[in-house]
Amino acid sequence: MDRYAVIGHPVEHSRSPLIHQAFARQSGQTLEYGRVLAPLDDFAGTVARLREAGYHGCNVTVPFKLEAFHLAERLTARAQAAQAVNTLRFDPAGIHGDNTDGAGLVQDLRHNLKVVIAQQRVLLLGAGGAAQGVLHPLLAEAPQRLVIANRSLERAEALRQQSGAHNVQTATFAALQGETFDLVINATSAGLHGEHLPLPTGLFAPEAMAYDLMYGQETPFMAFARSQGARVADGLGMLVEQAAESFLFWRGVRPETAAIIARLRA
Ligand code: NDP
Repeated sequence: MDRYAVIGHPVEHSRSPLIHQAFARQSGQTLEYGRVLAPLDDFAGTVARLREAGYHGCNVTVPFKLEAFHLAERLTARAQAAQAVNTLRFDPAGIHGDNTDGAGLVQDLRHNLKVVIAQQRVLLLGAGGAAQGVLHPLLAEAPQRLVIANRSLERAEALRQQSGAHNVQTATFAALQGETFDLVINATSAGLHGEHLPLPTGLFAPEAMAYDLMYGQETPFMAFARSQGARVADGLGMLVEQAAESFLFWRGVRPETAAIIARLRA
């Protein structure tokens, strides 16, 4: 049986096995998908052992996406642009790396939530691995402007320079005072620890969408956005959509996602 896994540290919380097994059933494919906890100092060794054991590929989660980028011998254009990899395929010719996070986010926004990004004012909060992965796919949707705001301005600035786009700016959270956006995406990990982002009021335009990449819990960002009258979505749809993109990369079929998103939500 073809075998896949998600590699992370920690990894026991991952819902990827459930999602990929559902995709396999739905598309009539037979595969096994597990969780692999890699030691923090031995991601490459863990991948090598999976290859030797005959695995076909893996998903990569925190904190190994950068290591996966360096380990891959070939990269898709979107992995190259993101400089991070969340999907590895073990081909006879070597390890092929992809990054499906950004495509997953855009698919969730556009198709599931019916959010238009083109010509809109977009605020991206955070400049870590997740922000890096979603920036280029967001820019490909041609927003009017995109501001990256991060606690560390230096990191936001590095991401802006890497994007090479003329309509990307950076800001500290404090400098957002007086600014208004149609789409605000929280790609920080502040919500993991229940921490508030020091965001000013008045940030959301009428009908604005606040999207938090976190899922499974109401974050302070979601609560703040609700209090400001914004529409709010969590990252569960992105999780399933990025998994569907990985499944496509491995198996050549893009599964239907709506039923699985609904099931996970229930
Ligand atoms: P990283 O550790 O790479 O980056 C963390 C980011 O959060 C940095 O920008 C950091 O700012 C910022 N941050 C952390 N704590 C605070 C705080 N208290 N106040 C302000 N900013 C803070 O994490 P990732 O980018 O990999 O992940 C970010 C989030 O996205 C996670 O919650 C993760 O679960 C989620 N995610 C969801 C996915 C999905 O499919 N739904 C896919 C991928 C990620 P600084 O640079 O200043 O330290």
